[in-house]
Amino acid sequence: MSDTRYLEWPFFEERHRRLARELEAWAQAHVPQRHGDDVDAECRALVRALGADGWLKNAVAGMPYGNLDTVDTRAICLIRETLARHSGLADFAFAMQGLGSGAISLQGTPEQRERYLSRVGRGEAIAAFALSEPEAGSDVGALQCSARIEGSHAVIDGVKTWISNGGIADFYVVFARTGEAAGSRGISAFIVDAGTPGLDIAKRIDVIAPHPLAQLRFTNCRVPLTQRVGQPGEGFKVAMRTLDVFRTSVAAAALGFARRALDEALHRATTRRMFNQTLADFQLTQAKLAQMATTIDSSALLVYRAAWMRDGGHSITREAAMAKLTATEGAQQVIDSAVQIFGGLGVVSEQPVERLYREIRSLRIYEGASEVQQLIIARELLKDLAAAGKDV
Ligand SMILES: Cc1cc2nc3c(=O)[nH]c(=O)nc-3n(C[C@H](O)[C@H](O)[C@H](O)COP(=O)(O)OP(=O)(O)OC[C@H]3O[C@@H](n4cnc5c(N)ncnc54)[C@H](O)[C@@H]3O)c2cc1C
Repeated sequence: MSDTRYLEWPFFEERHRRLARELEAWAQAHVPQRHGDDVDAECRALVRALGADGWLKNAVAGMPYGNLDTVDTRAICLIRETLARHSGLADFAFAMQGLGSGAISLQGTPEQRERYLSRVGRGEAIAAFALSEPEAGSDVGALQCSARIEGSHAVIDGVKTWISNGGIADFYVVFARTGEAAGSRGISAFIVDAGTPGLDIAKRIDVIAPHPLAQLRFTNCRVPLTQRVGQPGEGFKVAMRTLDVFRTSVAAAALGFARRALDEALHRATTRRMFNQTLADFQLTQAKLAQMATTIDSSALLVYRAAWMRDGGHSITREAAMAKLTATEGAQQVIDSAVQIFGGLGVVSEQPVERLYREIRSLRIYEGASEVQQLIIARELLKDLAAAGKDV
């Protein structure tokens, strides 16, 4: 297990320390260290196991568990960090249950909560969040997928892409243009069950760190209006609020990857002999290790500051963006150093550091690319300055 002294930081309460210890023991017993070729089956199995043993309740904050505003962000971050240290797929399985059901936790009707959230929390239904489109990724307000209202139904047409859990999800929360107003104020959210006529998996997408991912096509896909989540035209707000909850946890996952890379690098550096000493005896190696540890602690401070502030009821737009930017970019550097310390072994398929090298990359892109986080931080700074009545 990694260095756990950070759990003594004042951000945490005793329940968080207990959670981290218990999950570590669970992960050692239940999370496979290596993945086979069938990521769909592995992902389903991980969701079931995480649900059966009660971990998913932390990600799914809907009925009977409360709502997203009462979610324990520190618990979510500790869970993602711990799972990511063991397996990117385990972290993915946990996180997507929360992200995919977040809109229902925030705005779902009692019937929607009853029907979906308990099953998601028990790992009996797999959730997905369908926002991005081929022409609307970072600029998500440009989305084109449409939902026209016909009587008691919405008819959805369009394409969604990069949809995690695409192909294995039991339902998708889909954001579509309903046209109440121009731009982002004319979007609504709908729950579309897998198997609904008109919803097809257009193609599966293979990525460098395999997990279930697909492009979805909607063709005259009729969904009862009782499946709309929240008010008409409020879908964009719901999507952004959901992402706000989970952005800090992406940083926590990156932190978990980085901690694993440092553990692996320390072990390798202290056991690999060369030039009559170990690799760790060289000051150049020590400089690398020092930088890796410092980057990890800086990221952890930002991650848990943001989580602690959110749990205290504060707005964390700036803090979450700082945490995601620093932890994901920092983890990439830490992992790269680990690969370097491993030498040739570092690039051999399925070595832990090689796997981490692939796992970390997309975290700098999804849920707001690093450049988007930089813009958010700068926007908040300038807003504060303007509010203080100074010249910008
Ligand atoms: C593995 C993976 C899983 C995903 N899962 C989901 C999911 O479950 N549901 C979902 O809806 N989406 C998902 N996405 C989509 C993800 O959110 C988008 O990939 C992301 O928003 C970026 O959009 P894009 O890929 O279209 O890149 P683009 O929007 O084309 O951006 C390309 C690059 O431009 C740069 N950039 C962006 N904005 C600016 C700017 N203002 N100034 C300067 N540079 C900028 C960034 O470097 C960015 O990486 C996933 C993506 C990946 C890779």
